[in-house]
Amino acid sequence: MTAAAAPRSLILAGVGGQGVLLASNVVAQVCLDAGLDVKKSEVHGMSQRGGTVVSHIRFGPTVHSVTVEPHTADWVVAFEWAEGLRCLGLLGPGGTAFISRERWVPPSALDDRRGGHVAYPLDQVVPEQVVPVDTFTIAAEAAAAKAAVAQTVMLGVLSRQLEFPADAWTAAIERWAPAKSVPDNLLAFERGRRWEAPRAGTLPRVAPAPAVGPPAEPPPAPVVTIEAAWCKGCEICVAVCPERCLVMDAHDIAVFAHPERCTGCRLCSWLCPDLAIDVAAAAAAPVPA
Ligand code: SF4
Ligand code: SF4
Repeated sequence: MTAAAAPRSLILAGVGGQGVLLASNVVAQVCLDAGLDVKKSEVHGMSQRGGTVVSHIRFGPTVHSVTVEPHTADWVVAFEWAEGLRCLGLLGPGGTAFISRERWVPPSALDDRRGGHVAYPLDQVVPEQVVPVDTFTIAAEAAAAKAAVAQTVMLGVLSRQLEFPADAWTAAIERWAPAKSVPDNLLAFERGRRWEAPRAGTLPRVAPAPAVGPPAEPPPAPVVTIEAAWCKGCEICVAVCPERCLVMDAHDIAVFAHPERCTGCRLCSWLCPDLAIDVAAAAAAPVPA
């Protein structure tokens, strides 16, 4: 095999539980087995709770820097729709982004004030460089298309872009995937590898979002109740609230100080170690037509 002279750059992105780290290990293994130099790094936050996970991978005859600079990636491969869109700033002008249509809506995007409306990029026009991939449809026969398998579909799609032989990929999957899921992952990989991306100009476009007017009335705020006697003042809830609704009072007790900002995401309730917080949903407001 003739190795390309310059390093190539790949971004893998998804959320915790989608197998981004496993996929990055597979890609790195394939590159190493081909005799290439590989550098990779992962950025992950609350990956056990659906947080963002991004892996930078660079490979070539010699690789010095692990970081993929903005507008330089040859490929972005994302297992979740919003995470893929979030990484488009890393894609180079000649690159391609393969983004799964899977949507994992994070708790912080749930907004009870709008009767369950989700503040998430559900519909938008995407750049020409984006190729949406229906991973669940492609992997339909593999273990009910679980997320851990859909990730291997995307590896199959990626494998068509690279010069490495199919058996190098299957060997790496067998090495890195949990033993009991290897058959499903191999089937999903084969499905992804066989998938034909629509020709340029015929790609399925994502429809623009319909115009939505503002609610007729301000929606009611969720009700957050803090049991002061159970609060030990750890400040976890203050730190995790994405809207900065909570503060500590003079006695080191958490206080729901800004109810007007609260989206009802329940992160504070879920993460309070002493079960001191209760979040009651607001009465459902009608979603504007
Ligand atoms: S997370 Fe719970 S225990 Fe910690 S400050 Fe908040 S309410 Fe109190
Ligand atoms: S107070 Fe709790 S429910 Fe409200 S936005 Fe903050 S973390 Fe979410």
